[in-house]
Order: sequence, then structure tokens, then C-alpha cells
Amino acid sequence: MTLAERARRVIPGGVNSGQRSIPGLTDLVIARTAGSRFWDSEGREFTDYHAAFGPPLLGHNDPEVAAAVADASGRIGLTGVAVTEAEVVLAEQLAELIPSIEQVLLTSTGSEATFHALRVARAVTGRRLVVKFQGCYHGWHDAVSLNVISAPDRVGRPDPTSTGILPEVLDATLVLRFNDVAAVRQAFAEHGADIAAVIVEPIPHNVGALLPTEEFLRTLRAECTAAGSVLVFDEVITGFRHALGGYQAISGVTPDLTALGKAIANGAPIGALGGRADLMEQFSSRPGGPVFFAGTYNGHPLPVAAALATLRKLREQPVHEHVFRLGARVRSELAALYRRIGVPAVVTGYGSVFVSYFMPGPAPLSYDDLLANDTALFVGYRRRLIEHGVFELPLSLKRSHLSYAHTDADVDRLLEATEAAVTRTLAE
Ligand code: PMP
Repeated sequence: MTLAERARRVIPGGVNSGQRSIPGLTDLVIARTAGSRFWDSEGREFTDYHAAFGPPLLGHNDPEVAAAVADASGRIGLTGVAVTEAEVVLAEQLAELIPSIEQVLLTSTGSEATFHALRVARAVTGRRLVVKFQGCYHGWHDAVSLNVISAPDRVGRPDPTSTGILPEVLDATLVLRFNDVAAVRQAFAEHGADIAAVIVEPIPHNVGALLPTEEFLRTLRAECTAAGSVLVFDEVITGFRHALGGYQAISGVTPDLTALGKAIANGAPIGALGGRADLMEQFSSRPGGPVFFAGTYNGHPLPVAAALATLRKLREQPVHEHVFRLGARVRSELAALYRRIGVPAVVTGYGSVFVSYFMPGPAPLSYDDLLANDTALFVGYRRRLIEHGVFELPLSLKRSHLSYAHTDADVDRLLEATEAAVTRTLAE
């Protein structure tokens, strides 16, 4: 029996996340990672542009992060009481780096961070409704488990991503169109007094990349302020990957709360929720705080050590300069390639993130625009890329990532393989 077959006997579907169950890849078993690469159990090598949905911004097994984790693991374990020096230093750095953060709490995942953001928003406002946007993903919990990648006939109405969610929970989330300023104004005009929070990925990377208009983010800020609603930026992907201060530092729009995860620790399991002190002090980590907050692994010494080492490297080395330069090169050369072979495509992204939608321009502003993407080509060429040893996730609308470990030679190979893969897929 193969490892994948053994996996399917004891793990439902053979993988530990619904997002890892990829048609055509059910026999893939990962054996090893290093830098920009991973290897499967048969020794095949892949250049990794999927990058675990985004965490390893420095590349896999970064030596400085690995050394920091090894040092911590030989020195300090989890006690589950009080605080450690490393947690204090990490919190100080997050407060210093991220405009919205006065105080911060650590979690183990991004989902926990967005969960607690919405809970505290409902607690302080005494209100029921949460606003989210079609195409944004904020984790697996009930309030936000709807309208991420929706089939065309499910756009514009509630589209839960799971069964087992109470209808009244789904009813308490309003789904609007990203970048639709008029829809935001209308929602606040109709429901403002009942809106506890607006949660948004400042760039909805869970459908590739929808770039926000300046007016859109500013309108969210203005409407939330006017109505007394809590504005939550979910910077689980954009935080650290796009800038040390997150996309809020780039856009100049400061939310009330910020959810963080992924690139903060280069792949070690950690998330964070930070923001205005008057909101954060509602949590039960402060004696008398009415909003319950707990987690056995919160502030675990190993991911905290990984986060501190990652932040040090992001500050001291030209990581952003490198990945932004490679990202710009990939986007411009992919666009030129598609023009040359005559396939309509929009190549977009931000910094280290890139995605090719196979549809006519202009660049998409909302999920509705992405319904024009040729899904068969999008998924098909990525399946072919795998045969060339280049891994971009073969699932519709998924973005790809560059890291500090990717080189121009990697990009040369990516471009060659993409040309071959797209050409062959078109010919089929
Ligand atoms: N928010 C965003 C924007 C994400 O992309 C993700 C994960 N893909 C999450 C939240 C949830 O994070 P986690 O998987 O660590 O719970």
C-alpha cells in the first residue's frame, strides 16, 4: 500500500485540510522542503509558488528562523502561566510596526484572530451584524464561513461554505461586493445602527488579487467611524508579506483591529489580534475583561521565537526589495508572454503575490469580474506546470507567492514552463 493509500484509510480524504484536497494530486506525499523547493516521497523536485498559502516569505526552513526555534526548544517549554520575555518583545514590535496596534494578543491561527475580533466587536457595540465581502476568506468559523469562492448562481445571496451552521448565524452576516462604495453606504444607511463590525482583506488574496480603490478603504473607515462600528482589517496574508506595517501602512487607512498570521513567523503556527487599547482591554486576559479569550498554545515559545527571528530578518535584510522586484518581473513578463501567444489574460497581484486570470481586461475590481475567468485554462495549465516541476496550486483563483529564496533563475524556469503549459492546455 502506498503512503497516500494508507493516509486515506486513517485520515478522511488523506489530508488534514479541505484546502489540501486537490483533484489530480491525491497521490502526492510531501517529503522535504528547502528554500524555494519541496520534494515528494518519490524524490521529485518542485519549485514552490504555492508556499503553503503564504507563510514562508523567507523561503522554507530559513536557517536563522530554524536556529531560533532550535535554541528556544532546548531552553524553554510551554508553561501556560504568566508571560515570557519573548512574548513581551514580540508584542512591543507589533505595536511599534503596525499603525492600528496599541495592544496585541497572540493566537495559534488566523481564524482565531478574526473570531476574537468579531466577538469583541459584538461585545462592545452590543450589535448583531457583521459585514464581509464576496471573495474574502477570514478562516473557518461560522460568522465568516460564507461567500468566498461562490458559483455564479450563488453570488449576491448567502452561500455557506459548510453545512452545520445555524441559519441565524449566517443571517447575521451581510455580504457586499468588494470595492462597491455605494453598496457600503447603502448597507450603513439601512443597517448602520445594527452593524457591529466590517471585516475585510484589504487585498482579497483568497481569490487571487483584487486591488482596493483608495475610495473604498476610506469609505469603510468613514462609515464605521460615523456609525460606531468596528473596522477589522484581516491582514493574515498582507501583513508582513507586503510591508512590515501591513497594507494599512501602505494605504494610510487605519482599522480599529487587525488580524495577523502566516508570514509573521515564516510558517510556524501563530496568529495575532491587535488594535485599539480600549477594544483589546475588553478581553479576559485583563482581570475583569468580559470577552473570554484563551488558548493553550497562545504565545508558545517556539512560534514566538520563529516570529522574532522572522521579523529580525525582514527588518535587517532586503527581503521586501527582493520579492517586490521578482514579483514585478514575473507580472510584466507573464503579461508579455500571454500577449505573444495571443491568450487574453489579466496578470495582477501585489509585491510578491501574482496571479494570471484568463479573461479580457481591465483588472478586476470585485469577485463578479472574476466570473469571466476561464477556469479550465486556469486549472489546466497549473496541472501541466507540475509536470515541469513548477508548483502553482491547481485550484481556481488561487494566488502564487514568491519568497526571499526564489531567484531570477527560478523565474526564468517559471516563465518557460508557463509558456509550454499554457500553449499545450490551449491546444487540448
Ligand atoms: N484570513 C485570511 C485572509 C486567510 O487567508 C486565512 C488563511 N488562508 C485566514 C484568515 C485563516 O488563517 P488560519 O488558516 O491560520 O486559521
